[in-house]
Amino acid sequence: MMTRSYWHQQDRAPAISCDVAIVGAGIAGASTAFWLKKIEPALDVAVIDAAEVGTGASGRNAGFLLQGIATDYLTDIDRYGRKAAQRLWQFTMENRQLLESELDPSAIDLERTGSLIVAGSDEEDERLRASVAPLRADGIPAAYVPPEKVRERTLSRGFFGGLNVPSGAMCNPLRLVQHILQMSRAQLFERHPVEEFKTAAGDVHLLTRSRTFRAAQVLIATNAATISGVERPDTLIRPVRAQMFSTRPHSPRRLPMPLYSHEGNYYVRQLDSGELLLGGARHQHADDEVGFEDRVTEPVQDALRDYLQRHFPWASGAKVQRRWSGTMGFTDDGLPLFGEVSSAPGSFYAGGFNGHGMGMAFRFGKLLAELLLNRARPAFADLFAQDRLNEQAVSLAE
Ligand SMILES: Cc1cc2nc3c(=O)[nH]c(=O)nc-3n(C[C@H](O)[C@H](O)[C@H](O)COP(=O)(O)OP(=O)(O)OC[C@H]3O[C@@H](n4cnc5c(N)ncnc54)[C@H](O)[C@@H]3O)c2cc1C
Repeated sequence: MMTRSYWHQQDRAPAISCDVAIVGAGIAGASTAFWLKKIEPALDVAVIDAAEVGTGASGRNAGFLLQGIATDYLTDIDRYGRKAAQRLWQFTMENRQLLESELDPSAIDLERTGSLIVAGSDEEDERLRASVAPLRADGIPAAYVPPEKVRERTLSRGFFGGLNVPSGAMCNPLRLVQHILQMSRAQLFERHPVEEFKTAAGDVHLLTRSRTFRAAQVLIATNAATISGVERPDTLIRPVRAQMFSTRPHSPRRLPMPLYSHEGNYYVRQLDSGELLLGGARHQHADDEVGFEDRVTEPVQDALRDYLQRHFPWASGAKVQRRWSGTMGFTDDGLPLFGEVSSAPGSFYAGGFNGHGMGMAFRFGKLLAELLLNRARPAFADLFAQDRLNEQAVSLAE
């Protein structure tokens, strides 16, 4: 943290007071603001961001609105237990339904295409196929797509079978976060990096270079970034880099839905205007693809290019137009979390969507709003409360 002179101190804008201040104008912060104002319209809510709305991962992702956590249900069941796996899928399905019922689908370019998860190996194929029965038994519509149908529907080669989830969808993620914030009617303060979190006389003070925000309660929704004064272990939400590229408009649309493959390590979609958007390949370079540095690297970009050529011959001549990266927040068990700030009861931090924020965060914002409003323990809170990580022995399945 930098020191501040007497003159800088004198030059500060007047402090702003509000009921709830949210730090971070990504999908998590925006969604929480939306639900706070929906539940308590008179509440004074301020959203503060170091940069602009959606500058972080929320404006840099592929816009896949996937269902579930891992790509196949069996893996979720192995990891979390049957009951928790079912509830996690239910959570993402609610997220999808709420996006549709609470927002204007045309404002976020929502495409109700379903999603297609395809296998890169025999073994993955088997797990996708075997996921169908438990998914259906648990009330989640899904269908196995045999390899020849995968080839036919996506004009691809080299994949095995796949899993079609009809409630999967895609959207324009930057418009989504902008739209949620606009609908929330919360006050927005961009270009205000919060440097310090302090408590004084029962309030929280958030110090930025130019002004202080005073709030009765605060939500820190800064993804993997930490803030001085908030006791949160650095490793709780780890920064992990993801890279993407987009091509020039290449061909009429041939890929009708978001396609996720190789255990979710690659993801590709095509826009109506013909551009292809492709991301992933970090699993081959996992040790390098960590931290907050915003840059693209040749090995990952080359791997993405190879993937496109290998699996989509019709797209092999597509010219890459834009390359970019973003920071995802990863947790030890693959699930997002919230925790209470120890020095400020009633204030929370939240994040760690493990690359699935679009599929979860609107519903997660509802949960966070209920927590901040001190409603009875909100539904699903047991799945995401940080304490679960301190008690690894206690399985989510219980
Ligand atoms: C390349 C890429 C592709 C992805 N594809 C998908 C996908 O298709 N589907 C999907 O579901 N998920 C995807 N994800 C993951 C998804 O983008 C994230 O899970 C989600 O955006 C996280 O939202 P967030 O609000 O927690 O964080 P962010 O969007 O990162 O928002 C955090 C905000 O906090 C602000 N901030 C940080 N520090 C401070 C401070 N000190 N003071 C004030 N403000 C601060 C930042 O400026 C930022 O705006 C992808 C991610 C990446 C990077």
